[in-house]
Formats: sequence, C-alpha cells, structure tokens
Amino acid sequence: MSVATISHPVQVKVLGEDLEVPVKGGRLVSYANLDYAASAPCLEPVSAAVAAALPAYSSVHRGAGYASQLTTARYEQARHTVRAFVGARTDDAVIFTRNTTDATNLLARCLPEGTTAVVFDTEHHASLLPWPRAVRLAPPAFPGEAVRQADEALAAIEGPKLLVVTAASNVTGELWPIAALAHIAHRHGARILVDAAQLVPHRRLNLTALDLDYVAFSGHKLYAPFGAGVLVGRRDWLSEGEPYLKGGGAVKAVADTVEWHEDAEPRHEAGTPNVLGAIALAAACDALTATGWTALVREEERLVSRLREGLDAIEGVHELSLWGPDHPRVGIVSFVVDGYTAREVAEALSGEYGIGVRDGKFCAHPFVRHLLGATDGGCEDGTASAVRASIGIGSNEEHIDRLIGALRDLAARR
Ligand code: PLP
Repeated sequence: MSVATISHPVQVKVLGEDLEVPVKGGRLVSYANLDYAASAPCLEPVSAAVAAALPAYSSVHRGAGYASQLTTARYEQARHTVRAFVGARTDDAVIFTRNTTDATNLLARCLPEGTTAVVFDTEHHASLLPWPRAVRLAPPAFPGEAVRQADEALAAIEGPKLLVVTAASNVTGELWPIAALAHIAHRHGARILVDAAQLVPHRRLNLTALDLDYVAFSGHKLYAPFGAGVLVGRRDWLSEGEPYLKGGGAVKAVADTVEWHEDAEPRHEAGTPNVLGAIALAAACDALTATGWTALVREEERLVSRLREGLDAIEGVHELSLWGPDHPRVGIVSFVVDGYTAREVAEALSGEYGIGVRDGKFCAHPFVRHLLGATDGGCEDGTASAVRASIGIGSNEEHIDRLIGALRDLAARR
C-alpha cells in the first residue's frame, strides 16, 4: 500500500469543500463544517447519481412510457440498495419516507391496538414522542443498566410492546448496546425499533445479524440531499396498519368502499414519491459501501480522538457524556464552555472563525437537561444548552485544530 493511500484512506469527496464564508472584519475564510450530525454535505457520487437521473424522469408505478419504466426501475433499485445496505431480511418492508421523524411516526400509526412503547429519556424527540402510549425510562448510568431497565419495564407491560432506542446518540455520539436490547425485547415478546439516524453515516448496520425488527434513518444525514428517509422492518404490522397517507397509489380499488393495498410499500407511499430523494439516498449507501467501513471508521476515530484530546486540554471546556470518556462513540461531541452560553460560543465560532457547529438541545430536551444537571425545566432559555461539533467525510485536521484554537481563545478571553 502506498504512503498516499495510508494518509488519505477515504477517497470519496463531499460537495462544498471549497466553500468560503465571511468572518469578522470582512475576510473570507474556508468553511469548517462541523455540523454533520444536523445534515451532512452531499457526496460527489450522490450528486452524480441525481444528475444522471434528471434528464429522463417520469412518474413511478403508473406509466407505460419508457421514462416512466426507467424511473420505476431506478426507484425499486434504490429500495433494493437500501435493503442490502442495512442487511434487512428478504421479507422486510422498505418504505421510503421524508426523514427519520416521518418513519417513526409511520410506525407509531401501525402499532397493534394497545401497544406500549418503552423509550429512554435520552432519545431524540423523533423517537421519544410519536407513541400513543409510552413508558419513559430515566437515562441509564451505564450500558448494562439500560438493558436492566428495559428488562424490568418490558416485564411489567401486558399486551403488545415496542422498545425504541437510538443506536448512536445525536447528543454525545455514544453507541448503545442495541444487540443486547434486541435480545431482551424479544425475550419479553416485544419488538425493537432502532433509530439509526446517527449510526448509519458512521458505522455499518446489519439488521439481520443484530436481530432488529425496525430501523429508521434519514438521507440528509447520510450525505444525500434533504427529503428522503426510510423505515425498514417487519412487514406484518406495516401491512395491517392504517395507510400513512390516503390517496393514489395506496389503494387497489375505489368504489363506494376503498380497498387498500396490503403490501406495506404501496400502502404507505401514497402520492408521487420523492424518487430523486430515494435515488440519492441509495447512491449514498452505495458510495459508503464502496469507500469501505474500515477506512471510514479509522479516519473518523483519528479525528475524534484529536478533537476530544484538544477539548480536554482546555480549562473550562467540558464534554458531555452519559457513559464516560472511554465509551465508544461516533463523530459527535457536545460540550459547554464556562462563562459562555452555547449560543455565544456558536456565534463566535461562526462569526470569527468560519466554523459551523450546532448549539441548543438538539431536539433531545430531557437528555440534554439530564447531562447538564439542569432542573429549570426551560427549554430555549439559553442557559441549559450545549455546543455540538460533529464530523464525517471531508472533515480534516485543520477543521479540528481551528475549533480547538478558537475555543482556547474564547476560554482565555473570559
Ligand atoms: N433521530 C436522531 C438520532 C437524530 O439525530 C435526528 C435528527 O437530528 C432524528 C432522529 C430526526 O431526523 P429528521 O430530522 O431527519 O427526521
């Protein structure tokens, strides 16, 4: 292997690497995008796949015209690609949605009557809130406690039950013990939904090997443009649940009564679907697979270590973590800076250094309040918030070093 291959193991590129942004004093600096967990930039092969599909597209599943057939074939190929990407079982449904939030809400509408969801207070609101009936569990002090809490909660519930858990936290990046949680769920006759929005851009997921019932994720966090997500999983609940949208495509026949499709995909994909979004999402899956997880993970871990060591060395900067500094995580790090609100830090990083981060509670209010030990109950008051830096393909040492240098400046200015 050549030296060049070792120092640049990830060959795939994102769009926007040469973006310049204005900072204080009117200077232009290259943009350091450290906000991948919100939405990741588009990969070049994803952009190429969309560009290739644009010249000849037409509605799917309805037309006999060549462009319609071609588009239908591309849309169904995208479904097939997503199925393979998450290692789904052959009989699992793969339903295209708008995003993860749409996917969790879709599943919530399809739960058998009387289902109780069991959720941790560490969840993103997309996975915390959609359930008609839910038992909420306090943030566990260590991974084994998560399993114990789920075990006890599921044992106490009669009737159908669903355990909902995020594979990688959008606040701390920490990885959750999803295989052990799936095992516990199944021991109690429950099913498990894994919110993989922050996992799939960073790690390979295999639904079959992990024995997961459902996974949901968004294209825009996976280096594809906005507008497409997916719900993958067991077909029976989805084929029996109420159609998510009622309209053309979801029906087999309409007269005085309506006959809905039993097939989960058409049943829940009424109306003209986001075909280009699905093609883009699938192209992102293909590009990540082709790049190779070993290279991606190695590069990410190298940069995350650099980031965390840098933060750790600055007095007054505190990283947020549920399970301690040694617990494995993806490229997401949240922190607070003594003497500053999160908004002040984020604005200074942007306005003075050209660095984009996210500040706030990251749509995980209970979790962030727990991590900050805040008891004010307020959500947007600026005090109980954190700053989040998140990385991915296209992130580099200069971005990390610029952030650390900027935080060092801010801490010294206090
Ligand atoms: N779940 C997690 C873990 C997330 O990080 C996010 C987005 O931040 C979501 C769900 C919701 O994703 P979307 O806004 O694409 O629906």
